Amino acid sequence: MDRSEIREKYRLERDKRLRDDAAEQYLPAGEIFDAVYHDPYVPRLEREAIVEELDCVIVGGGFAGLSAGAKLHRAGITDVRIIDRAGDVGGVWYWNRYPGAMCDTAAMVYLPLLEETGNMPSAKYVPGYEIFAHAQKIAQTFELYNGALFHTNIESATWDEARGRWMVRTDRGDELAARWIVLGTGPIARPKLPRIAGIGTFEGHSFHTSRWDYGYTGGDARGAALDGLAGKRVGVIGTGATGVQIIPHLANSDAELFIFQRTPSAINERNNHPIDPEWYAGLAPGWQDEWQRNFTVLQTGGFADVDLVKDGWTDITQRIRDRVVKLVTERGEYNGAIQREAYEESDDEKMDELRARVDAVVRNRETAEKLKPWYRQLCKRPCFHDSYLNSFNNENVHLVDTDGQGVQSIDATGVTVNGVHYDLDCLIFASGFEVGPEHSGSGALPVVGRGGVSLSDAWSNGLTTLHGIYSVGFPNLFHMGFTQGLNLFSNLPTNFISSATSMSQAVAHARAIGAEIIEPTPEAQAAWVDLYENHGSTFLGDVECTPGYYNNEGAGIGVREKRNANGYPLGAVGFMDFIDEWRRSESYEGLTFTPAP
Ligand code: NDP
Repeated sequence: MDRSEIREKYRLERDKRLRDDAAEQYLPAGEIFDAVYHDPYVPRLEREAIVEELDCVIVGGGFAGLSAGAKLHRAGITDVRIIDRAGDVGGVWYWNRYPGAMCDTAAMVYLPLLEETGNMPSAKYVPGYEIFAHAQKIAQTFELYNGALFHTNIESATWDEARGRWMVRTDRGDELAARWIVLGTGPIARPKLPRIAGIGTFEGHSFHTSRWDYGYTGGDARGAALDGLAGKRVGVIGTGATGVQIIPHLANSDAELFIFQRTPSAINERNNHPIDPEWYAGLAPGWQDEWQRNFTVLQTGGFADVDLVKDGWTDITQRIRDRVVKLVTERGEYNGAIQREAYEESDDEKMDELRARVDAVVRNRETAEKLKPWYRQLCKRPCFHDSYLNSFNNENVHLVDTDGQGVQSIDATGVTVNGVHYDLDCLIFASGFEVGPEHSGSGALPVVGRGGVSLSDAWSNGLTTLHGIYSVGFPNLFHMGFTQGLNLFSNLPTNFISSATSMSQAVAHARAIGAEIIEPTPEAQAAWVDLYENHGSTFLGDVECTPGYYNNEGAGIGVREKRNANGYPLGAVGFMDFIDEWRRSESYEGLTFTPAP
């Protein structure tokens, strides 16, 4: 196919998938599955309510909250309580224990604080249970288990202007008066389900991947055989990053497996390998910062002498970059058209390779055709797996392609697609998560700032922050996200470490000068938001992309999406340089520091 034919095919496939209900096509998983509210891993213990004043409440014990806690600890601030609804730290890696759970960003850059904890990743890409253990190690190293309140939900966090404190109430009766509050609530914490007709009526066994039921399936998170599924008819809805990881494990069970596919993922190679302890021990101090920067430079199209991580993420962007260089050399000029041309050529080359990979691996021709992704590579999250495609060569695995329409309906006994009913014993939803910070969407965190304004209202049309951290009207509240900051979506922990470093330095500065209240100026915040909203680079799949959460499910990109997702105008490396300088200058431009009321 030539380029125009490929584009036409992409358009055709996208149009099939556009739907009026866009993001409304999903519902919170808790509306169907009670289990979403229960913790299957750690028993919930009764405890006395705590009433006290303290320095800092950190909401969320995932890598965002842990990074904040670690950096505050380094700055000498230890009167800190992590609060999490889970029974331990770990965040998404606490909840997501499905078979095959793994991070497909290289552990050397994904796992934060490796040098500080003395941990070594076992392999280039590590399994979920190892990542969870690393989260625990961070909590131990920085004494963040002291005072941590698990199985605890925040009912309200309200700024008390007279006291200059955040009044935090929980469902355990706790009343905490905190000087600072850190929101480390993560962008994909709440599981969602597709609003398929009859979704609540299935009478077989059913669960969302983030609450995997090993009691039913047998096996364990370390890959033991799922022997509970022998002889069962099992359906999976969802073939995104999670579906791609679980399907090979399900395919190896003795179940009859039906995979209901709406859009195929693009499956890159993974090529995992163990880390050599001797080599690791020889790395020079400060190596992880260097790796983070190297990954960020290469992942965002920059130049570096060496590709330290060398993975599918850096490959994608290096191809574009090398083509730009070639075209500029040939034509003796650089312009936006060259950038676009290089992007399109590399994109077509890469997607052709990925489609050819499907042909090379999958034996059944018809199945192979259905597994081919027809969209530009960054329209959907790239996936990396060496046995996913192979699974479709198993006799027990049946691909049920819905031609972009999704599952038609669900009833007591199974699923209907294209008018055909599939009887099932078990239906597994790998249907993803509400994407976005916890201030919005279902179960928004009830944070109320100055003058009774809620964070949900203040940010209803997108984030308004300085550096993605501080927000006018919400003094001493620090947001640990990735938007309006570094915006490196291929490796979220790098963003958390960056925000945590800035925040802890500002807090230490406040202490040093005897100030209590940290808040951005309205002017600095407005200028910062304008930078992202009106001048920012975007990772959002363009409007021609097949729908997904990268492009607001095809509903178009408005102010809200730009504020929530656009990158720093000079890219992630530009942001790194900017924020390094901001920290080094110690002038704290844009922030005000005032005494306690
Ligand atoms: P996703 O949102 O990526 O995937 C949801 C899947 O459900 C898609 O395949 C979607 O199809 C499908 N779907 C939705 N509605 C229907 C329907 N009505 N009928 C049939 N199929 C339907 O969720 P994941 O849990 O896979 O991943 C979420 C995020 O978690 C990832 O993007 C990634 O950021 C993170 N993750 C990271 C991993 C890592 O290695 N670091 C591993 C796993 C997850 P369609 O594509 O058509 O919308």
